[in-house]
Amino acid sequence: MPVNTRDPYDPTNIFARILRGEIPCREIYQDAHALAFHDINPQAPVHALVIPRGAYVSLADFTVHASDAEIAGLWRAVGITADLLALTDPGYRILSNIGGHGHQEVPHLHVHLFGGRQLGAMLP
Ligand code: 5GP
Repeated sequence: MPVNTRDPYDPTNIFARILRGEIPCREIYQDAHALAFHDINPQAPVHALVIPRGAYVSLADFTVHASDAEIAGLWRAVGITADLLALTDPGYRILSNIGGHGHQEVPHLHVHLFGGRQLGAMLP
């Protein structure tokens, strides 16, 4: 069974500040549940980030505590962002770093989208 405790959330993290409009971003898409913007340090010709508006750190926190609308909204925004960036064909990669072993640097749940060139095989 999933653990029902909340991840402690640091409201000063950089993505929380972007959501509050305190720090600018190159926005791609936004709606009631999610915001998509270009990564400041792109690792591919196209490197976007999609984040939920809610204060969630990990995927476990999100899936246990977010509403169905928030969960659907995040994944819908990922697909819309890929489409807006013309990644759907020829393809792209999504990735989410979770926690310490996952090398998550920003403690607000986010999904990376990489594309714009032939990507290599996925290696840990
Ligand atoms: P993580 O390692 O947490 O999965 O990735 C965090 C990502 O956020 C990194 O790819 C990093 O370049 C990006 N990032 C960090 N600070 C900022 C910022 O202020 N603006 C934007 N647009 N991206 C950021």
